[in-house]
Amino acid sequence: MYRSHNCGELRLDHVNTQVTLAGWVQRVRNKGGLIWVDLRDRYGLTQLIFEEGSTAKELLDKAGSLGREFVIQAKGTVIERTSKNDKIPTGSIEVKVAELEVLNPAKLPPFLIEDETDGGDDLRMKYRYLDLRRNVVRQKLQLRHRMMQETRKYMDAAQFIEVETPVLIKSTPEGARDFVVPSRVNPGEFYALPQSPQTFKQLLMVSGFDRYFQIVKCFRDEDLRADRQPEFTQIDCEMSFVTQEDVLSMFEGLTRHLFKEVKGVELEEVGRMTFADAMRFYGNDKPDLRFDMRFVELNDLAKGKGFGIFDQAELVVGICAKGAAEYTRKQLDALTEWVKRPQIGAKGMVYVKYNTDGSLKSTVDKFYGQEDLTAWADAFGAEPGDLMLILSGDTKVVRKQLSELRLKMGEDLGLRDRTVFKPLWVVDFPLLEWDEETERYHAMHHPFTSPKQEDIPLLDSNPGEVRANAYDLVINGVEIGGGSIRIHDRATQQLMFKHLGFSDEEAQKQFGFLMEAFEYGAPPHGGIAFGFDRLCAIFGGSDSIRDYIAFPKNNSGRDVMIDSPSTIADEQLQELSIQLALKK
Ligand code: ASP
Repeated sequence: MYRSHNCGELRLDHVNTQVTLAGWVQRVRNKGGLIWVDLRDRYGLTQLIFEEGSTAKELLDKAGSLGREFVIQAKGTVIERTSKNDKIPTGSIEVKVAELEVLNPAKLPPFLIEDETDGGDDLRMKYRYLDLRRNVVRQKLQLRHRMMQETRKYMDAAQFIEVETPVLIKSTPEGARDFVVPSRVNPGEFYALPQSPQTFKQLLMVSGFDRYFQIVKCFRDEDLRADRQPEFTQIDCEMSFVTQEDVLSMFEGLTRHLFKEVKGVELEEVGRMTFADAMRFYGNDKPDLRFDMRFVELNDLAKGKGFGIFDQAELVVGICAKGAAEYTRKQLDALTEWVKRPQIGAKGMVYVKYNTDGSLKSTVDKFYGQEDLTAWADAFGAEPGDLMLILSGDTKVVRKQLSELRLKMGEDLGLRDRTVFKPLWVVDFPLLEWDEETERYHAMHHPFTSPKQEDIPLLDSNPGEVRANAYDLVINGVEIGGGSIRIHDRATQQLMFKHLGFSDEEAQKQFGFLMEAFEYGAPPHGGIAFGFDRLCAIFGGSDSIRDYIAFPKNNSGRDVMIDSPSTIADEQLQELSIQLALKK
């Protein structure tokens, strides 16, 4: 028996009990004749004590030679501590050790295995297995575990069947590049790793499974960011004989369940907003609703007064930052510089201060009198003490810029509280999105999403206006999940491919299997997928999904611990019939 108890278990009740503990040495404090060792495992920390006089000299020396992260086993008696530590659950006792065994010595770790560590990101990733020993890191993965269990509980109770789908497949377009895997037995041919199990889950509906879910790895080769990894996890679902409302209510239920069971939070009702409104009022299809600061369009009030920049702009639009009129000139200049950075790209910013004495002061006083500015202030619903920030330009561009500014102001004014959760369904997404680069339409969600029946006539005349039966769940400005009601007949699916620029042959080659399945009795169906890593990050109050993944990749898609990706041997390449043509 390696241990009778774990390191988080012993209390005053255990005093005088003989115990055996095993774990890692967190810290050794050596006061000469008195040595304390903090012994750690996943469950907690227990103090071991070795005392001159009552402890044999040999044992005392052994204890004195222990180093950080040694793996040891200690046998002894639980005693009451003279000076108690009420910060840890085992703080009232210590174990007076009679036998000590070093199970495995350890090199000095390259960084401190403590909640507050001195290790930088790169070092911690290289030694991720040591990083994972830290409580604060492990706790994040424990949160993930809880969320997984609660997801399965909810889905199972709602009669979803968990089905695994293959990983070696062919392309399922979700708007990213595929990772591909060469096939040795089929020279010159490649599998693609799934960007999602989309086509398979639809086929399961054709199979009559009715309700499917899977907690599944997906792979997308795209540029990485804090909330993106090349492989990530989805809670993937599909349901038959459902309308959009059915899907929304089922997954609102899941979200609510997770918040309640995992965080003890009663989530407020999930609001709804159309994509068009989200863009118009927040410049963003995933608005952060923890604060208001809605966009106010000023074309009617601001144009035609001789201010050329506004006159020439397609859209003049602004936000009102409550209580920010006290921003100094320096702060405002900095803000103007901020919107002019290439990442935001605004040409300039107009501001109007609503001073507490009721007067209005703007950067465009030359063109607009107090009366004009008062009309603007009314449009903003501004009060004395508020600050109005206004941008102008092409509608799409300026909305994006103002959205960034809004988020920054929200941050600066402390309105993005991580303990507040504002969920929102964004609905009625456009079916298609024009891509400037390739000069053609792309599916905004994916090609299997159904258009709104009443918009189908627009497919030929005005494809960009066609709305889809598609929806996203957004929490605090983060897209948590998205889905749609699908096309379930061959003709519509074919029409869709045609509009996406596929020839009949291409469509047949890539998705013939799905269209054929639709001819064998496909039920109406729809579904959704949640980004599980992101959901965990939101629950944990973090921006980075990496913390919630046991072995994540860095910004260049590398796993620096196992050093991957890496080259492979020539023989392996030969076996795969692959020749490299790398540019030097
Ligand atoms: N497959 C979609 C995605 O990964 C989700 C869905 O439509 O159910 O975004």
